[in-house]
Amino acid sequence: MNASWRQRAACQGIDAEVFYPTTEEEAEEAKAICGVCPVSETCLEYALANREREGVWGGLNERERRRISRQRRKSA
Ligand code: SF4
Repeated sequence: MNASWRQRAACQGIDAEVFYPTTEEEAEEAKAICGVCPVSETCLEYALANREREGVWGGLNERERRRISRQRRKSA
């Protein structure tokens, strides 16, 4: 996939640690940034396609992404 979407990412320049929180509360900061990110859908699809297990991608944490993956498998 063309990675140019990363150049428009709201998380550019932000400490990557923010996106690898250890608690749900900590994840809120990352989710807020994703919430205003212009490429969040692309980011989420990238994470799903690449089975990224850790961190917040496209505003969703790993548990939330697993749920989407499961739902898609069911409806496929
Ligand atoms: S959705 Fe979140 S993690 Fe993905 S590029 Fe945007 S700010 Fe970064």
